[in-house]
Amino acid sequence: MQYDHILIRYGEMALKGKNIRSFIQALQENLQVKLKDFPNAKVKRTQGRMFVLLNGHEPEPIIEICKKVFGIHSLSLALKVENDVEQIKEAALEALKKADARTFKVAAKRVDKNFPHGSLEMNQIVGSHLLVNTEGYTVDVHEPDVEIKVEIREEATYITSENISGAGGLPVGTAGKSLLLLSGGIDSPVAGYLAMKRGVQLEAIHFHSPPYTSERARQKVLDLTKKLVGYGKSIKVHIVPFTKLQQEIFREMPDSYAMTIMRRMMFRIAEAVCEQENILSLTTGENLGQVASQTMESMHAINEVTNYPVIRPLIAMDKAEVVDISKEIDTYEISILPYEDCCTIFVPKSPKTRPRRDKINALEARHDFGPSIEEAIAGIETIHITAKSEDTEFEDLL
Ligand code: ATP
Ligand code: MG
Repeated sequence: MQYDHILIRYGEMALKGKNIRSFIQALQENLQVKLKDFPNAKVKRTQGRMFVLLNGHEPEPIIEICKKVFGIHSLSLALKVENDVEQIKEAALEALKKADARTFKVAAKRVDKNFPHGSLEMNQIVGSHLLVNTEGYTVDVHEPDVEIKVEIREEATYITSENISGAGGLPVGTAGKSLLLLSGGIDSPVAGYLAMKRGVQLEAIHFHSPPYTSERARQKVLDLTKKLVGYGKSIKVHIVPFTKLQQEIFREMPDSYAMTIMRRMMFRIAEAVCEQENILSLTTGENLGQVASQTMESMHAINEVTNYPVIRPLIAMDKAEVVDISKEIDTYEISILPYEDCCTIFVPKSPKTRPRRDKINALEARHDFGPSIEEAIAGIETIHITAKSEDTEFEDLL
């Protein structure tokens, strides 16, 4: 007898009322796309449940992939048998022998009301079969090493032992699209990950300033994007040539306001990309109080230039929490590579920590940045990052 199913549970989605159908549909599609390197693996749905049929593939690599798919609450390897007491007993015994355990508990659940034995009765029947046919095992209903779950549904009975935690959240794509302002730092990739976890499909925008920023700094951003793609679908990265505009800002504007004005330019250009790409929000790695550009006054001044919603998943987090997530999602090591960022190159000596909107508007009115903004937008290079490593070509996966 072989474990040939992975049972997928989608906790939070059960709460989503009318949307539930589209959520489940999205989860099934996302999962199937992620498993494209396992041609025999099939994602199936029955009433209230989703399964991956392994069809001969080893379970471990598939479980690893499932653990990164948002919308999955938990998963378990499952044995599938007919709704037949003898088959159920045999499969439960198999599951117990495979588990690394000394104490166990049977938890039967009868969903199929035509099945002749109730849940409690099945606990007894299966439990005593396990005790009689093994040595050295005891029942512990409070803290068992393993819980043998027996789920008797209309179409079949599923026997599972281990419960593996999933990534939680909502399936990517069910919450619309957002444009992530992605630097090479620690914060913005984590912000992107958290937005994806709420079902957001991302595109990314990166501002670079060659020759002040190098090819390696650009590659770093693409590598970070690739890590994010691991949790969702392919991501388009828009690379904006920012040198000229940045130089102009630092030449024409007082040093203390240059940082804030540069951020405003980023938002303006990002909004233009949103319009082109039909995206309805921006996402940043901003965090209250971290640096000069992230005070309340500063966010107030920067935010003035767009009326798009700005999603800031890290706004109230401690740096340590952000670092923990970045390690978990494997972006930390890339983020700390010491390649220069466009914002670190042009660092004003004393940026205003409390910039004022009226002052900034007066300053910006003194110089026409329009042509340079247009030029930056016209020079955008778009790269499609997919799951395959060096592959930068777009494949529409769904
Ligand atoms: P990060 O770790 O994400 O770089 P940070 O703590 O360094 O963030 P800032 O440099 O103030 O903070 O940047 C705030 C946010 O502005 C970033 O999280 C990111 O969303 C955006 N941002 C900064 N620089 C760039 C860039 N070169 N290209 C795209 N977005 C950027
Ligand atoms: Mg940064």
